[in-house]
Amino acid sequence: MILLSGIQVREALKKQLKEATSLLVVLPKLVILQIGNNKESDIYIRQKKKFGQELGIIVEHKVYEENTKEGEIVAEIESYNKDEKIGGIIVQLPIPKHLNCSKILNSIDFKKDVDGLGVVQTGLFYSGDSKAITPATARGVISLFDFYNIDLDSKHVVVIGRSNLVGRPVAQMCLKRNATVTVCHSHTKNLDTITKTADILIVACGVPRLIGSPYVREGQVVIDVGINKIEEGICGDVDFDKVKDVVYAISPVPGGVGPLTVMSLFQNLIDSQKK
Ligand code: NAD
Repeated sequence: MILLSGIQVREALKKQLKEATSLLVVLPKLVILQIGNNKESDIYIRQKKKFGQELGIIVEHKVYEENTKEGEIVAEIESYNKDEKIGGIIVQLPIPKHLNCSKILNSIDFKKDVDGLGVVQTGLFYSGDSKAITPATARGVISLFDFYNIDLDSKHVVVIGRSNLVGRPVAQMCLKRNATVTVCHSHTKNLDTITKTADILIVACGVPRLIGSPYVREGQVVIDVGINKIEEGICGDVDFDKVKDVVYAISPVPGGVGPLTVMSLFQNLIDSQKK
C-alpha cells in the first residue's frame, strides 16, 4: 500500500510557495473573521496563523460575538474590501445559524475571496475560467494527485459528499482533469456497489470511518477528506485500518488532505496578489 502523505507534499510545495512569496513586491495581509466560539474553528485558525507566520504573511484574526448582527459583519467586510493592504478575506465556517452565510460570503470583494466561496468566484470556477480561485480543500486534493503522479484522465472517480465546501469543488476539479465523475450523497442507494466501481474514491461525508472494507477493492486510490473528532482523537471518513491492506494507495487522517488545505489557502492568496 502506498501512503499518500499530505505532510510530505506540503513540505515540498512550501518551498515553492516561500519562493513565490519572496518575489512579491507587496506582501498581502490575510484577514480571518471568526464569528462565535466554535472550538474546532479555533484549531483551524491557529493552523492558518502558524502557516502565515512561516511565510512571513500577516494574518489578522478578528473575533465577533456569537450574537453579532449580520449588518455589522457586512460593514466590517466592506471596510476590509477597501483596505489595499488586505489581499484576502475569509470567514471561518461554520458561522452562527442566525446569520445569512451566503450574504456574508458575497459581501467579500471577489478579488479578495481567497476561499473562493462567493458567487462570483464560484461562477468563474464552475464555468472553467482559468483565473478562478479553487476552493482550498479541492486544491489540496489535486496537489496530492499531482505529487504522487496520479493521472485522472479517463479514470472513474467516485466522490462521496456534495457540499459546496468540499464534494462539489472536488468533483469539478476531477472533471477538469478528464475523469468520469460520480457524486454520491446521503440519498444514494447501494453506496458500496458504486464505490467499488471507482478507480479513485474521494470521501468527504463527515461520517467517522463510514468506508470500511465492503466499500473498496484492490487497486483503488482512496482519498479521505474527513476530519472527525472522536473520543480517541481525530479520524477520517474511511476506516483506515480495515481498508489499508486492500487498496493500492490511501491518504491518512491526520496527515493527509488536512495539511494541504491550509497551504492551498495561502497559494490562493499569493495567486490573487499576483493577479
Ligand atoms: P457537509 O456535512 O457539508 O457535507 C457532507 C456530505 O456528505 C453531504 O453532501 C451529504 O449528503 C454526504 N453524506 C453524509 N452522510 C452520508 C452517507 N452516510 N453516505 C453518503 N453520503 C453522505 O460536510 P463537508 O463540509 O463537505 O465536510 C465533509 C468532511 O470533510 C467532514 O469530515 C469535514 O470535517 C471534512 N473536511 C475536511 C477538510 C480538510 O481540510 N481535510 C476541509 C473541510 C472539511
